[in-house]
Amino acid sequence: MKVIQFKKHGGPDVLEYVEIDDLTPGRGEVVLRVRATSLNHLDLFVRRGIPGVKIPLPHVPGCDAAGEVLALGDGVTTLEQGERVLLNPSVTCGQCEFCLRGDTSMCRTFNVFGEDRWGGYAEQMVVPAENLVPIPDDMSNEDAASVPLVFMTAWRMLIGRGRVRPSEDVLILGAAAGVGIAAIQIAKVAGARVFAAASSDEKLALCGELGADVLINYEAENFVRRVREETGKRGVDVVVDYVGKDTWVDSLRSLTRGGRLLTCGATTGYDPTTDIRQIFYRQLEIIGSTMGSANDLNAALTLISSRKMKPVVGKVFELKEAADAHRLMETRNALGKIVRRPHGGPDD
Ligand SMILES: [Zn+2]
Repeated sequence: MKVIQFKKHGGPDVLEYVEIDDLTPGRGEVVLRVRATSLNHLDLFVRRGIPGVKIPLPHVPGCDAAGEVLALGDGVTTLEQGERVLLNPSVTCGQCEFCLRGDTSMCRTFNVFGEDRWGGYAEQMVVPAENLVPIPDDMSNEDAASVPLVFMTAWRMLIGRGRVRPSEDVLILGAAAGVGIAAIQIAKVAGARVFAAASSDEKLALCGELGADVLINYEAENFVRRVREETGKRGVDVVVDYVGKDTWVDSLRSLTRGGRLLTCGATTGYDPTTDIRQIFYRQLEIIGSTMGSANDLNAALTLISSRKMKPVVGKVFELKEAADAHRLMETRNALGKIVRRPHGGPDD
């Protein structure tokens, strides 16, 4: 089978399209025939190398995948050969205090396909049976592969950690990116008024289609000033900021008293300067969140199945074009999720 792998960390050119042996499942495992994979920023970080994280090489990236069951290992009774499934990318112990209380992304041994294990830039993957979730009949493989990581991350961040409630104002930065697309829709389902900030009018048009109420082009205008105008100088209840260093200070300034800043990433840098007085005088909360649980994924899939939310697929690449797909993601100009199909594999 074909995979994209890298033998050293670096730019998109380290991604190689190679042939390796077909996979066989162990006990409790399944071989997934991957039909579609979507890209996440994590893929870029893994390819470049993450300080303090040792990734055995060669490595196959890719956290999100969808396809069908190709082979069942011993003891697997919950799935059938040929069944269409998507991947829950997180692997947890199920036994530590965090798993037992449902905070599985805090698991002491938490790991993710595409980072800690070989991922979905491949025609096949071996995964534990419990990581596979049936795909609704009317959902394409590309759509299915665009759901898991961003929707479970956004669900946990906004609902589980962020406690977004009806009537609240929620500002989402980088709103046309993967997590943003999910966050807009989840905040709307929760009953909030959504302020979407993005770097182009084309991206904002997409945010508007997804239900965002206030559209802010933060290349053309100061988003703090616009938020203050729109809220009668009050500020918003919640800011979703995974942009990081470039927006952190202005995110804090956009919040009303007692507001919550939710963070699940820092794509522009992780060491902004914070004026601590902003936090204690105005009694702000800074809430970290990462990934999500199987329950979070199921909740999102339920609403997607009932057409209250939807994944957004942007450009589709073939597996062998992974380096081009990474280059597109690095430009930050991509609209919606970038998705890859295995070379030569008919979809659906
Ligand atoms: Zn655990």
